[in-house]
Amino acid sequence: MSGEGHLAPRPMISAPLQMRLRSGGKPAKDSAFITCPKCEEPCFIRRSERITEKVKHLEAHCTNTGCGHTFAAQVVFVHSYSPGLIDRPDLDLPVCPRDQVPHVTARRAEEEDPAQISMFSG
Ligand SMILES: [Zn+2]
Repeated sequence: MSGEGHLAPRPMISAPLQMRLRSGGKPAKDSAFITCPKCEEPCFIRRSERITEKVKHLEAHCTNTGCGHTFAAQVVFVHSYSPGLIDRPDLDLPVCPRDQVPHVTARRAEEEDPAQISMFSG
């Protein structure tokens, strides 16, 4: 199809509109970036604007046609888990207390075999 400067004389291909709100094609629901506070369905982000280094303003639109809620929301920086390699003392970013840093692994807890000895436990 590439390289042609005109439409080829063949039937149009039907391509249904897909609303994919997260990767993998699974239902968004709880893992959607923004969910509607009224009906808890996933929302589109129509527009976003960076207010400061720590705050982003979002305009969201509920995907539930029976709801239709449009609203503003904000994403706010909370704290760093790891400060990273770039020094920015001007931002004064708080660091998460060490005992509250989440441990992220590729395996889910229910998949772990309790009989297997872990070299990371303790
Ligand atoms: Zn809604």
